[in-house]
Amino acid sequence: MAAPDAIVVGSGPNGLAAAITLAQAGVAVQVLEAEQTIGGAVRSAELTLPGFVHDLGSGIHPLAYDSPFFRTLPLGQHGLEWVHSPAPLAHPLDGGSSVTLELSPDDTAAQLAADGARYSRIFTSAARAWSGFLQSPRLGSALHHAGTAAVLGLASAGSAAGFVRRNFHHPRAQALIAGMAAHSTLPLTKFTTAGIAIALATFGHVGGWPYPRGGAQKLTDALAGYLTSLGGTITTGVRVSDLQQLSPARAVLLDLTPRQFLEIAGSQLPPRYAKFLRHYRYGMGAFKLDWALSEPVPWSSPALRRAATVHIGGTLQQISAYEQSAWDGKPGAEPFAILAQHSLFDSSRAPAGRHTLWGYCHVPNGSELDMTKAVEAQIERFAPGFRDTILGRSVLPPRRLQSLNANLVGGDIMGGLQDLYQMLIRPTLRYWGTPLDGVYLCSASTPPGGGVHGMCGHIAARIALKQRFRR
Ligand SMILES: Cc1cc2nc3c(=O)[nH]c(=O)nc-3n(C[C@H](O)[C@H](O)[C@H](O)COP(=O)(O)OP(=O)(O)OC[C@H]3O[C@@H](n4cnc5c(N)ncnc54)[C@H](O)[C@@H]3O)c2cc1C
Repeated sequence: MAAPDAIVVGSGPNGLAAAITLAQAGVAVQVLEAEQTIGGAVRSAELTLPGFVHDLGSGIHPLAYDSPFFRTLPLGQHGLEWVHSPAPLAHPLDGGSSVTLELSPDDTAAQLAADGARYSRIFTSAARAWSGFLQSPRLGSALHHAGTAAVLGLASAGSAAGFVRRNFHHPRAQALIAGMAAHSTLPLTKFTTAGIAIALATFGHVGGWPYPRGGAQKLTDALAGYLTSLGGTITTGVRVSDLQQLSPARAVLLDLTPRQFLEIAGSQLPPRYAKFLRHYRYGMGAFKLDWALSEPVPWSSPALRRAATVHIGGTLQQISAYEQSAWDGKPGAEPFAILAQHSLFDSSRAPAGRHTLWGYCHVPNGSELDMTKAVEAQIERFAPGFRDTILGRSVLPPRRLQSLNANLVGGDIMGGLQDLYQMLIRPTLRYWGTPLDGVYLCSASTPPGGGVHGMCGHIAARIALKQRFRR
């Protein structure tokens, strides 16, 4: 292969999105990946027993499905097929009851007693604004819908605790919102947590919370397949430990977090910029679990069989208390956990009649605590007999996650804390740019942040195209 015009370090969804954006513009691009398999936190493997396909990192993909960039790519031609469960999300409560996030805001509202009317009002307008934005053929109308969404976001911004207090009084609505807000990896009293809950519910009402048939790896493989069809190349097993080791290229895009950028280029960076990177903060870690099961999870509430994603943790108060305790460094005994039961709707994930379960809870960054028993006790609380269905189990504490993907610093799955400050300044006021000529950051540590959507990589590549290739 001729020397590449651009090099992308890291093959996570943002690295691949950056490489595709460059290749679409005719730039010869090479991706270098440290691990033997591509995809970063979007990979699958038989973690428990033969024939059981588990997702190492991301499991549920509303952000990828709704991604303004991924939506434009012919990923279906490269093997990607989305699986939709009838309801995006279910949330069990004690006593065998539950609440589900349905595709329609009204069907969700119907379960929320006196809170239903307000739920319907908020989320019908949010869903209208977001789908209008996604379907806008022109920038002007897209901005109009983005404006509506922004006004809505601002009107209900702030903490999830405040948003719930102002709008919802029934425990079912409160629990539903709390579970979605906890995806922020922040205590629910923090600014931005309301926004995360509103965004996730809105995505659920617009496109559902789907996932790739056959495993998250299929999304990565489709992105890689399309990239290769454009002439891009990917080399695995190459860990970049110094920027100087790269062959000369007009642009270098790093799908890395600030800590790794410092490691590979620290001596070349101006001290002031390096200081900013050193002060970049990482968030709580994930304690990841996967199970091979002899049968579906025996939920007390039958509604739990309709949703791929399940939030366990109980009420708003219980979820808030757990997230606060993990944030404070002393996780409580009753964790809030996010689960995905892929095999219920995708039989390719497990041998006939068997099932998989994916899940994680938040723990302090780098924590060595073993949360296995506590998470399984929480599942047992809403699904008595669950333990008897376990055939095999994989446990990936924060440090183990980091050993599988260096970007998962201390188990942080979002590429850095996503509090208000680091949402606005991520990772510095240069955002994707760096003080080094032609070197860009393109990981989840740049806007718009964590999650599988590829927008960080796509935006970084567009800037590189303009500045380095005049395109
Ligand atoms: C347990 C877990 C659950 C998650 N759940 C979800 C979910 O359900 N939905 C969702 O949308 N998001 C989820 N996420 C978050 C999502 O996966 C990440 O935000 C996303 O993958 C970030 O993409 P990225 O390209 O920035 O980085 P990554 O996906 O982390 O990729 C970075 C790549 O760079 C490579 N690399 C690092 N250092 C070097 C080096 N020196 N040289 C060469 N290569 C290097 C790594 O090996 C890796 O392949 C989850 C993540 C985890 C870990």
